Amino acid sequence: MQNLELRKRNEEFIREMKEYDPTFFDELKKGQAPEFFVLSCSDSRVSPSVVTQMPLGHMFVHRNIANQISIEDESFSASLSYALRHLNVKVIVIKGHTDCGGVKAAWSGNNEEELRGWIGKVRKSLPDHNLLKDVSMDELTRENVLSQVKHLQQHPIYKKYGQGVQMIGCLFHVESGELERVYPL
Ligand SMILES: [Zn+2]
Repeated sequence: MQNLELRKRNEEFIREMKEYDPTFFDELKKGQAPEFFVLSCSDSRVSPSVVTQMPLGHMFVHRNIANQISIEDESFSASLSYALRHLNVKVIVIKGHTDCGGVKAAWSGNNEEELRGWIGKVRKSLPDHNLLKDVSMDELTRENVLSQVKHLQQHPIYKKYGQGVQMIGCLFHVESGELERVYPL
């Protein structure tokens, strides 16, 4: 059933794109030159190109749980390097979102074996739970974005190749659809 839905939606997509521009796929085939490199959470409700209505070819996207940046993460480092050195993106967008399960898990002390390592990284991006107990989940997701802005500023690949590239931190509100800018204010 799901498989059929994927196929049906894909056929619909092809039809709509060709209706919009008969040469759409010929253009796509020529290559990509996206202006944006976006880091987003993997959450199924926050797809960056969907919430900004950005057509294919404009956003190079890296996603992981709770949109984390760490120097040891080879997958992110590779995406960042490719985006800066080969795609020459103009803007880096770090996009968190409200009601983030990764942030919630970190804050509530989730200790599942398979998640422990990653959620531990998320926890380090949040204020100290022992010092700050009365904080809203929205505020925590905002803090998480700001931490990733700092992590990016300290990332060796960014330091080497990202000078002059605009950086934006934002928070997608799943309850309203609004994309709130949190950095720079
Ligand atoms: Zn999330």
